[in-house]
Amino acid sequence: ERYVFSFGAGVADGSAEMADFLGGKGANLAEMSALGLSVPPGFTLTTEVCRHFSQHRVVPDGVERQVRDAMNRLEETTGRHFGAGHNSLLLSVRSGARASMPGMMDTILNLGLNDSAVEALAEETGDGRFAWDSYRRFIQMYSDTVLRLDLEFFEEIIEEERERLGRDSDAEMTAGDWKAVVTRYLAFVEEELGEPFPQDVETQLRGAIRAVLGSWMNPRAIAFRALHGLQDQDGTAVTIQAMVFGNRDDRSATGVCFTREPNTGVKTLYGEYLPRAQGEDVVSGMRTPLPLSSGQASGHGVDNADRSMQVVFPNVYDELKCVSERLEAHYGDMQDIEFTVESGKLYILQTRTAKRSAGAALRIAVEMAEADLITRNDALLRIDPLSLVSLLHASIDPDAERDHIASGLPAAPGAASGQIVFSPDEAADLAERGKKIILVRTETSPEDIHGMSAAEGILTTRGGTTSHAAVVARGMGKPCVSGAGTLRVDYDAKTLSTMGRTFDEGDTITIDGTTGEVFAGAIAMRKPQLSDDFRTILEWADATRRMKVRTNIDVASDAELARDFGAEGIGLCRTEHMFFGDERILAMRHLVLAETDNDRESALLTLLPSQRRDFVELFEQMAGLPVTIRLLDPPFHEFLPHTEEEMRETADALGVPVEKIEFRAETLRETNPMLGHRGVRVAISYPAIPEMQVRAIFEAAIEAGQRTGRPVKPEIMLPLVGLQREVDFVREIIDRVARDVMKETGQSVEYTVGILIELPRAAVRASLIAQSCDFFSFGTNDLTQTVFGISRDDAAQFLETYRQAGIVEANPFITLDVEGVGELINMACVNGRAVQPELLTGICGEHAGDPKSIEFCEEAGLDYVSCSPFRVPIARLAAAQAAL
Ligand code: ADP
Ligand code: MG
Ligand code: MG
Repeated sequence: ERYVFSFGAGVADGSAEMADFLGGKGANLAEMSALGLSVPPGFTLTTEVCRHFSQHRVVPDGVERQVRDAMNRLEETTGRHFGAGHNSLLLSVRSGARASMPGMMDTILNLGLNDSAVEALAEETGDGRFAWDSYRRFIQMYSDTVLRLDLEFFEEIIEEERERLGRDSDAEMTAGDWKAVVTRYLAFVEEELGEPFPQDVETQLRGAIRAVLGSWMNPRAIAFRALHGLQDQDGTAVTIQAMVFGNRDDRSATGVCFTREPNTGVKTLYGEYLPRAQGEDVVSGMRTPLPLSSGQASGHGVDNADRSMQVVFPNVYDELKCVSERLEAHYGDMQDIEFTVESGKLYILQTRTAKRSAGAALRIAVEMAEADLITRNDALLRIDPLSLVSLLHASIDPDAERDHIASGLPAAPGAASGQIVFSPDEAADLAERGKKIILVRTETSPEDIHGMSAAEGILTTRGGTTSHAAVVARGMGKPCVSGAGTLRVDYDAKTLSTMGRTFDEGDTITIDGTTGEVFAGAIAMRKPQLSDDFRTILEWADATRRMKVRTNIDVASDAELARDFGAEGIGLCRTEHMFFGDERILAMRHLVLAETDNDRESALLTLLPSQRRDFVELFEQMAGLPVTIRLLDPPFHEFLPHTEEEMRETADALGVPVEKIEFRAETLRETNPMLGHRGVRVAISYPAIPEMQVRAIFEAAIEAGQRTGRPVKPEIMLPLVGLQREVDFVREIIDRVARDVMKETGQSVEYTVGILIELPRAAVRASLIAQSCDFFSFGTNDLTQTVFGISRDDAAQFLETYRQAGIVEANPFITLDVEGVGELINMACVNGRAVQPELLTGICGEHAGDPKSIEFCEEAGLDYVSCSPFRVPIARLAAAQAAL
């Protein structure tokens, strides 16, 4: 078996495609060698060696011989000899896995130096300072990674010597000074280990290879892989390469460059370098690196502009620029390149795909596609849809000062500042008067909606990322931090407190729903932006995707934003939120508490005009785009007065004794309201309610159609259906009211009737139910609850336990459970379409904004996904990726 692949001098055994085998670093060094770039020659041991080593603690048979052969070739290529004293070959031994794990594993430089080679090197170069500096670096690195001695001792020794010799910095150290340091290093190692530092170069090489192989399993690397979903069995490759010296002289340097500016994506040579330095000096922070380009905007002082590489090493800079352009074009993506300059000659030591901000990713994808470096499809696939979340919300200015007071869960992205308010009513009042509010609650419930919608952001001390507050906030596109457990809310005292600090109502705080952090005071923000690049990518996505993207909104005021984000209709308009306003809640309470049809009738007469107005506005805003309206869904009790004060108010307003209200409320109370008297069940018990809603819909459709000149074709959706007869029952009401309205107005309205599939029974009986309706919309939030028999408000804790124990892969309320819920969706679609070929299918749960779930929707052949307005751009891109 072949374990060793050589590269150098314009040729290579391996290539970039072999990253699984040679690691990203080794594969790209081979590729760059073959391209004829200036890469120090060397060879790479495959990841197979590491897999074997991890299991057996020895390298496989044959490796030693193959290494010896490769070393012979390397000696030939370089014209140097390993362990020769004079003209000796010095090596770097580098780790490198398939996926980049920066700094997690070991690398050893200057290997091959010993007491005689260092003297020879000093003589050959005529520079003892360089030779002894290199040797002391090698002893340090080797002692750390192979001999496992504590680096601190070595740093202490340098400190002591510097002080003794009166040198302020490493730059002032002479050859003799470094030699003194080396003498103490060697003595220290011998004292610690009871044997001298290895002078035999073969021993050094074997030790270094073993150490690098072993560093794959160091705790740091294991933790890193766990965090990034990388596999422990992959293994690292080991690259052994001839050294080049950035610490050789004043015409030498080492650095890192990006082919584009990683924050903005602007095409420019961007990076840092350090003259007379080696390896990790650039990132170690011991010396402040200098900018590559003189115009480079970064944390560097203006003073440093004339010490930029562009100014100090103009020729090398130009060459680096050429190489960087060549590499970017070759790989078809932005690169992150490590280089070293030895006595004015440039060497490339590593290249890899560069990390970049979401905004930069968009810009780069668009520019590269427009320059024909990549296709438009490549450009679309290159962007992580979820990374775009950060561009759709305000964020805290990264340079702003902050006063952290607590951490909760990142429940809904974005950041907001505002005054603390504890009551939803007060939040609504103050917001009306132009105040910016953060609504602070232990947790929220549906009655708090008006306060939530008035607030800039929501903070709760309980609940997870699928709690009511989190779900509603995400839908509204408002930042939310949930479950900030170290905070105490005292509703009576109107205070928010934490570890000795107390905030009163009216004090300003800032929440960051992207990170889950809470801060005292206001902090400077950055506005969200749909940049031109963002819009371009979305246009390309629109031209590629098959599925439509709709949005879930309840009120006309959200429509403009949703349409700006590209929503092609409304997939879910929940009508109950329309009833929580001040006057309407009274009429609603009247309706709920009514005991006679007459009473009910009069309440509905009050509600009809306002409901109609809601729909007219919504239809006008959506100007002919499809709008799905869900008939009243929540359990009645959510509309009931709860506190004694509310009971009294309601009694007064309705002119009945308070006892009557209390009694009626008591009879309506349910043990399990989520599965109680709600959804289509209410429409069947009280047909007057759907009658009113449907009348409002049709009258509004006619009115809006006349105003905009675009006919409105309402889609009426029945929630919580399980039986075909339920659909037939309500459909008859809808058809009758539609006929009446059309007769009264002399106008005709096209409409469809469909169901929200939230119960397994509806999916199982799809072939019958589809005979009675025109569309299926999968309400996957509730469908997941009913399929699993799990209440999502209570599930956060044990689902996390499940996830950690590997019982579920992901939280099914965030990523659709393809095997269970998905199977039902597939079944319903197939059976439904069999009897009703025109059946429209869509999904309107929160999953509709989750890229992985969207991939499933594409496979299931759904016609559309419908998500919150802020998820629309994400869904547009994800739908395109799913179609590719
Ligand atoms: P990491 O994966 O942690 O970046 P590397 O193997 O890339 O580790 O090595 C770190 C640094 O060591 C490189 O950026 C480079 O500066 C230096 N280095 C590695 N190999 C050589 C070499 N052959 N000659 C000179 N410097 C080298
Ligand atoms: Mg590196
Ligand atoms: Mg539901």
